[in-house]
Amino acid sequence: MLKGKTALVTGSTSGIGLGIAKALAAQGANIVLNGFGDVDGPKAEVAALGVQVAYHGADMSKPAEIEDMIAFATKTFGSLDILVNNAGIQHVARTENFPVEKWDAIIAINLSSAFHATRLALPAMRAKNWGRIINVASIHGLVASAEKAAYVAAKHGVVGLTKVVALENATTGVTCNAICPGWVLTPLVQKQVDAKATALSISNEEATKLLLGEKEPSMQFTTPEELGALAVFFCSTAGNNVRGVAWNMDGGWTAQ
Ligand code: NAD
Repeated sequence: MLKGKTALVTGSTSGIGLGIAKALAAQGANIVLNGFGDVDGPKAEVAALGVQVAYHGADMSKPAEIEDMIAFATKTFGSLDILVNNAGIQHVARTENFPVEKWDAIIAINLSSAFHATRLALPAMRAKNWGRIINVASIHGLVASAEKAAYVAAKHGVVGLTKVVALENATTGVTCNAICPGWVLTPLVQKQVDAKATALSISNEEATKLLLGEKEPSMQFTTPEELGALAVFFCSTAGNNVRGVAWNMDGGWTAQ
């Protein structure tokens, strides 16, 4: 379905980003990976799906590096058709104790990076009259939790940005939508499970149950594969007129 198209997924060396990159690759899209840590493993996983894969190590808190990455994607594969703004970090603390540098980093990586990548990718998408911008927001783009001031502010911002970009391109073949996952068991969430287990002197299993029980009626994690399938839907022809939605996959979190 996506043969001949190029997808850039930010923060795709791990977790949800890697899951989405693999789902798009399984549909034939060439992939540009981005993110920190091991690169060879994720590259091999994507290449095994029979597509071309490249990597750019832009730090998503740095606009000049984002600009270089967008140019690299276009130069490497001839076009950039699908942009998935996924890179993100978390820090948990009450607002009065929230470290200022963590606030700045979360706003830069989780929100401003999506603005920069989007503004730089849009002109070529508009020129081709086809493009997909998919923002990995969060259920925290729709509702709040205590001790996550920067994350919740950034993710609400991402949902707002999604709507504006969708409206500005509504008469074109370029769509922009957000995905709002509940809990997904990635390194980002494992750290929160570990912190709970330590704080309450309980096992990892008990901490996991507590974490899910607080928010997710399904008592199940959403998987990167399920989120990848939603990204593929946004890229399909059935997604042609899906514009500006913030689609939750949250085990019933926001139905309560
Ligand atoms: P993860 O920690 O597994 O992956 C994060 C990715 O972002 C990694 O590839 C990491 O290297 C990259 N990254 C971090 N800082 C970066 C930077 N400055 N520049 C470039 N890359 C950077 O986390 P995840 O859970 O897969 O999170 C992915 C996205 O999904 C995030 O935006 C997160 O907020 C969102 N999300 C996660 C959950 C969840 O439960 N895990 C729920 C809702 C939304």
